Amino acid sequence: MDVGKWATARRTTRQISVGDVKVGGDAPISVQSMTITKTADVEGTLQQIYALAAAGCDIVRCTCNEIEAAEGLAQIVPRSPVPIIADIHHQYKMALAALEAGVQGLRLNPGNIRRPEHIKAVAAEARDRNVPIRIGVNAGSLDPDLYTKFGGATPEAMVESAQREIAYFQEVDFDLIKISVKASSVPLMVEAYRQLAEVTDYPLHLGVTEAGPPPNGLIKATAGIATLLMEGIGDTIRYSLTADPIEEARAGRQLLEALGLRERKNVDLIACPSCGRAEIDVIDVAKRAMEAFGEREIPLQVAVMGCVVNGPGEAREADIGIAAGNKRGHLFVKGRNVAVVPESEMVEALVEWAEFIHEHGAEAAIARVDVSIAEREAKRDRDALMETQGSDANHSSERIVEIRRTVGN
Ligand code: SF4
Repeated sequence: MDVGKWATARRTTRQISVGDVKVGGDAPISVQSMTITKTADVEGTLQQIYALAAAGCDIVRCTCNEIEAAEGLAQIVPRSPVPIIADIHHQYKMALAALEAGVQGLRLNPGNIRRPEHIKAVAAEARDRNVPIRIGVNAGSLDPDLYTKFGGATPEAMVESAQREIAYFQEVDFDLIKISVKASSVPLMVEAYRQLAEVTDYPLHLGVTEAGPPPNGLIKATAGIATLLMEGIGDTIRYSLTADPIEEARAGRQLLEALGLRERKNVDLIACPSCGRAEIDVIDVAKRAMEAFGEREIPLQVAVMGCVVNGPGEAREADIGIAAGNKRGHLFVKGRNVAVVPESEMVEALVEWAEFIHEHGAEAAIARVDVSIAEREAKRDRDALMETQGSDANHSSERIVEIRRTVGN
């Protein structure tokens, strides 16, 4: 696979390790999310961490806001399938407690842990334990004097906040750093990251903070993160959605796959938008196909097309697809018709063939049938549809007559 073929070359960054996950340099861009359980609830939190890992999350963050949370982390970290980062606000002692609990990373908010001696105490301890820290600047919680200096939460104010923190870290020789400059405004966060990328080579963690519930939140987060990734900026990402965190992990994973920045893990389902030619309810069949494939690790492109007239041709690049015609489903592999199934069995057939292709390859799938039969049947159904629908599938001429009648022409 040509990874990120058309994206701007990735910015050169230093590499750090969050547990066994490398971030920055030439490491694959990683996906992060955050648990929404109480961290003190060890079993509940671990359950969520396992579900996040299964959905494609590489690193998970848990809040460490009280001593019980730090104690929970001490039990969670050794049992977690992915590295754990402790999220710290206000109380620097919680950062020290999380380090003691064995976390593989910390996130500090420079806007609410402001005393230099506290910041340096945490950095020195992290340095001794070889644990990286994310400087997590947030437009909504900047140091008040930066708001005054810059007249608000500007990209410049956010970058300066990060640079001040870096300077404190450097005083104690700590450089296992990654940085985020998040905002809920997409243009603001994009510009802040662009400016930050100009002045530092530390790896960057991308996100649109408080993006909100889907679908709006998904659109905002994707707009910000994808814009930067295509400019070669970003080493790890997080969708901040007001939703089940599993959705965040899935979205992050899917975005990286869609941009060609990570190898595909699951099915890439493409479907036509449907039109007057459609012989099936494309939305329903695509939804059922999506559910049937679920989290199965079949990294193929699968097409659901509404009609056999244009479907197989338009989706010829797909590994496998199905197109409807005359109450039947026409299966095609790499654009070649291979089988005809009853309309009610379309989804099952799609899954069965996809599994076969995944295991044995497209050539073997084509070789297991006499394609001339399927091709003949497809031609028959195509011709029948052309006969009934012709080139006026949306019944435009009838509609025009009706419109003219309505307006009294
Ligand atoms: S022409 Fe066929 S494949 Fe294309 S949008 Fe219409 S129904 Fe779908």
